[in-house]
Amino acid sequence: MDPLQTSIEYLKGIGPNRAALLREELGIRTYQDLLHFFPNRYIDRSRFYAINQLPQNNAEVQVKGEIIQIKTVPQKRGKRLVAVFSDGRSQMELVWFRGHKWIQEQLKLNTPYVAFGRLSWFGSKANMPHPELTLEAEYEASNIGALHPVYPSTEKLINKGFTQRIMKQMMVNLFGLIGNQFKENLPDYMLAELKLVSRKEAIINAHFPSDTGVLKQVQRRLKFEELFYIQMQLIQKNRLQKQKIKGYVFPQVGDAFNTYFKEHLPFQLTGAQQRVVKEIRQDMGTGKQMNRLLQGDVGSGKTIVAFLSMLIAKDNAFQSSLMAPTEILAIQHYQSIQDAIGCLPLRVALLTGSIKGTERKNIYADLADGKIDFLIGTHALIEDKVQFKNLGLAIIDEQHRFGVAQRAKLWRKNDLPPHVLVMTATPIPRTLAMSVYGDLDISVIDELPPGRKEIKTVLRTDANRLNVFKFIRDEIAKGRQIYVVYPLIQESEKMDYKDLMDGYESLVRSFPLPDYRISIVHGQMKAADKDYEMQRFVEGKTQIMVATTVIEVGVNVPNASVMIIESAERFGLSQLHQLRGRVGRGADQSYCILMSGNKRSQEAQTRLQTMVQTNDGFEIAEVDLRLRGPGNLMGTQQSGVLQLKIADLLKDQEILKIARFYAQKIVEVDPELSSEKHQRVRQTYAKISAHKNIWNYIS
Ligand code: ADP
Ligand code: MG
Repeated sequence: MDPLQTSIEYLKGIGPNRAALLREELGIRTYQDLLHFFPNRYIDRSRFYAINQLPQNNAEVQVKGEIIQIKTVPQKRGKRLVAVFSDGRSQMELVWFRGHKWIQEQLKLNTPYVAFGRLSWFGSKANMPHPELTLEAEYEASNIGALHPVYPSTEKLINKGFTQRIMKQMMVNLFGLIGNQFKENLPDYMLAELKLVSRKEAIINAHFPSDTGVLKQVQRRLKFEELFYIQMQLIQKNRLQKQKIKGYVFPQVGDAFNTYFKEHLPFQLTGAQQRVVKEIRQDMGTGKQMNRLLQGDVGSGKTIVAFLSMLIAKDNAFQSSLMAPTEILAIQHYQSIQDAIGCLPLRVALLTGSIKGTERKNIYADLADGKIDFLIGTHALIEDKVQFKNLGLAIIDEQHRFGVAQRAKLWRKNDLPPHVLVMTATPIPRTLAMSVYGDLDISVIDELPPGRKEIKTVLRTDANRLNVFKFIRDEIAKGRQIYVVYPLIQESEKMDYKDLMDGYESLVRSFPLPDYRISIVHGQMKAADKDYEMQRFVEGKTQIMVATTVIEVGVNVPNASVMIIESAERFGLSQLHQLRGRVGRGADQSYCILMSGNKRSQEAQTRLQTMVQTNDGFEIAEVDLRLRGPGNLMGTQQSGVLQLKIADLLKDQEILKIARFYAQKIVEVDPELSSEKHQRVRQTYAKISAHKNIWNYIS
């Protein structure tokens, strides 16, 4: 057996109890796990401070001195143990809040120690809570070098006395046992081209670093290795999937596409739209199933791309579906597509929850007969009763509302899976998208239609409300329309409805009939009432729309030029960006007013400031990601990116790009990994694919 697969129980100094702790708390079972249990940071311990020259902050510092007095001091709850520590000139206090008895027994008076820990300050007096104390004689004899690894730990481990010192000793014992013959797992040409340090050097130095310079090299190497093998997996998976999943071939564009494109296109496509349409056309012509994610900021014009793709399907005698997250949005898509195809011999139908009875039955029948070309709708589209004659293209708009499981469900409607196009206005950084959605190809519309004015965004408080109302009046006088949006969070639903209704009433008082008309839409209304109100706003019969976030997604009222978001600090960044995207759709200057109280968290402040500073969805997505971490992104849970141990998807995007580039190149030129120079990759890859967590099996 591979000695690295030995249970840590057998390592000197561990035994069954500590082994159980390590397993439960950190998932470490074998020597191999331990080897790949890397420090998450390093402390420079080459420097000693004099007590009267300690930095006036909470730095981690190291001081040489002796304990001259030990006392217990009563405090609010219980007491604390205090050791007065002197370096001969000045004094500081070492403090313990727990474990008094055990610690007190260990402490030696008037004996040289090295104390290490984080400073805290009480006025001008420094103290160090729970220091790491080492006898100076031991400190010098030990192999404590200048740079100290700090290993990840947990509350429980710390409470059980599992100190950093024990962890370091564990590593010393491990390396003593297994030696340092770590096999290289990257090809020599890659090491040379990228100037990466060897695997052996990387592993040894990760645990026993000699200086900060080498540490950077070590981390770069380990990050690259991790990202490279993850990319290898994603790319291979994608390739195999494409080989496996056959798709319909749409070889041609024909009358429908050409007629529309040449004679009825209401505007010229942007360069980005043209590029994406081309990518989709190519995809659907290959005989493989298309699985494409279309990212484009709000207002970038994804709908026309969807529509043109549907025309291509039609030209190849296939049906298409377009699924939207809300009924309002489905209706809007339905209407705009109906308007657009007025000139073409096509039939489009709408299917939502509120279409019932014979009307619904007729749709089912016509769909199965192939009389309907385009089916637009909500979730209703994926109910089992909906059977297409030959669904060739399934488009999903605003996918963050739909799970992947639902996407898969669409496939089962006929013998071959339809091509799938998922459109989203919640962009995530491209490199990240590539590593998260390994199975999707990605298109990006990174250009807005010409003539759009940047939406002006400001932050206002209640004290400014009168001015805000005056501004609304002025805009309405110019013929514009206004959205006022209230948060609705499930946990505080009752309060939120109260806020919404209070806000509505106050608006009704300030903007009275007959000069002003106000619509209101919220989740507790019946669907028909919602649609009625929405429709009145769309048609310009009302000037103000008061709503909860139901209008968040997709609604298109080009005449609306002001978006007011109440309690804006309660919204997430991408939600704010979506909401703002409801304005700025026409030629007029548009505005977004974020209303917020003065009290807000640091994070809320960052969100609001980001909104004020930029309109760029990708930039906003990056900030959002930084605030919330990749764990909250759609789809990340399943994809394994969260198992990253060393690399950071956000900070290490450059390395990720390079890793992806190399992985792609290898898969392209040597997909079976049969060439001599790829033997290391082949062996490592085989081991990784057999297991889930790559770090358990890279060695
Ligand atoms: P989104 O990407 O948010 O779904 P839409 O498809 O709703 O955006 O498009 C937003 C608006 O821009 C629509 O009114 C649409 O007609 C218009 N539009 C789209 N593409 C262009 C273009 N190339 N030139 C001018 N206007 C366009
Ligand atoms: Mg849209």
